[in-house]
Amino acid sequence: MEKNILIMATNNAHKLEEVRQILQGRYQVKGLADIGCMEDVPEDADTLQGNALQKARYVHDHYGVDCFADDTGLEVDALNGAPGVYTARFGQQNGYGESHDSEANIRCLLDKLQGATCRTARFRTIIALVKDGEEHLFEGVVEGHILASKQGEGGFGYDPVFAPVESGKAFALMTPEEKNSISHRGRATRKLADYLLS
Ligand code: IMP
Repeated sequence: MEKNILIMATNNAHKLEEVRQILQGRYQVKGLADIGCMEDVPEDADTLQGNALQKARYVHDHYGVDCFADDTGLEVDALNGAPGVYTARFGQQNGYGESHDSEANIRCLLDKLQGATCRTARFRTIIALVKDGEEHLFEGVVEGHILASKQGEGGFGYDPVFAPVESGKAFALMTPEEKNSISHRGRATRKLADYLLS
């Protein structure tokens, strides 16, 4: 039993649930609160990969547990790939509100794309796993475009304004199952699961 415990470096219940579903009960996935990690885990690298590795290594080194961490960025072609690694802070960086404020982030994005003819974008997730003394990286990408205005109430973050090519409608209009089947994080998590379950 002990050997099947894996820590995900997050307190986001939605992410934990998503990963538990994909790992089909073969691993007991716990969050940071479950190991008493209450401090902010550092993530100040300038790449998604750097942030994911930094978080996973921190938890592994400070708590002595096998751990994985994810980091996600939205890459907008008309903005030369921005906000990328700064996706959570995009609004704040541009004077629209606080870090991690989804409403501010969306307003900032729509304003910057006003009148843009090219609205293509992608979500990219990197998962870093530190397990049994080894490090592994897994990537998931979903291509799509930024809508002209918000659609739907579901999901979180930029979901009301991102439409994946697979459906053309906003992530926020999809059921969690629909979204997970094509999303960046779903794809990265299934690669992690394929590795762990193989
Ligand atoms: P994090 O790496 O998961 O913390 O995400 C970084 C930023 O991307 C945050 O602003 C999130 O709201 C946003 N984000 C991550 N995943 C998604 C998603 O599936 N849909 C919409 N926004 C997302």
